[in-house]
Amino acid sequence: MNVLRVRGLESHHGLLKAVRGINLDVQEGERLALVGANGAGKTTLLRTLAGIHRASAGSVEFDGANVTTLPAHQRAALGIALVPEGRRLFASMTVTENLQVARSAKRTGYWNLDTVVEAFPQLKPKLRALAGSLSGGQQQAVAIGRALMTNPRLLLLDEMSLGLSPVAVQGVYDSLSSVVSQKTTLILVEQDLQRTFDFAQRIVCMLEGSVVAEGRTDEMTRDEVMAHYFGHRGSNEKKEYA
Ligand code: ATP
Repeated sequence: MNVLRVRGLESHHGLLKAVRGINLDVQEGERLALVGANGAGKTTLLRTLAGIHRASAGSVEFDGANVTTLPAHQRAALGIALVPEGRRLFASMTVTENLQVARSAKRTGYWNLDTVVEAFPQLKPKLRALAGSLSGGQQQAVAIGRALMTNPRLLLLDEMSLGLSPVAVQGVYDSLSSVVSQKTTLILVEQDLQRTFDFAQRIVCMLEGSVVAEGRTDEMTRDEVMAHYFGHRGSNEKKEYA
């Protein structure tokens, strides 16, 4: 079953069209990675899916409902959560307060303060600490925990590795794999291609706001993805694998 259906989606930053006519179908429980060079439009696409950035054309259907014009908090209430690039925590609030912010989505389910702390035990001694005082890896755990607190069905993860040590990145991915249920659909942006191949089932390559290739990770090679990444394929035809 498709949980997400995107058709002809466009988003602008002023006059710049950052997302151009994106079509995307994502199945429930799928792990999809968006890859592309800096400025390809990945963050803008995730923010548009989350309702933080307004779509200028096209449609987004979530669970069969047209959510294109819904603001972010209403999408969160339906089960769409974004872990933003740079984590965007409230630095002068405690870890607990940062996590509890997500309760405003008013979604019930497995995730609450206790289960998040159980899943990210490194946060237990830090619950009263200010988020700004935490290490990068701990902050990322809070950002993911905050999104999980909304009990999302679709989790959008933007460059979780940014600014983290390799050990912290590994920790974040290990936690993510163990805490996210089979039914949660994931769309992630990740610069590390090896990690993308290890974690995702399908890759969508973006270039200058458009999808230029997509395919299953077990049917594409890193070299093929790299070629699309930099636009070396020299074709405007979207390449589909499988
Ligand atoms: P990165 O990996 O660098 O985050 P990206 O693939 O996520 O890149 P976006 O951040 O979505 O790409 O940027 C897409 C385009 O929109 C780029 O040309 C970028 O310069 C532009 N852009 C992004 N944010 C803004 C903004 N707030 N104001 C103006 N232009 C923006």
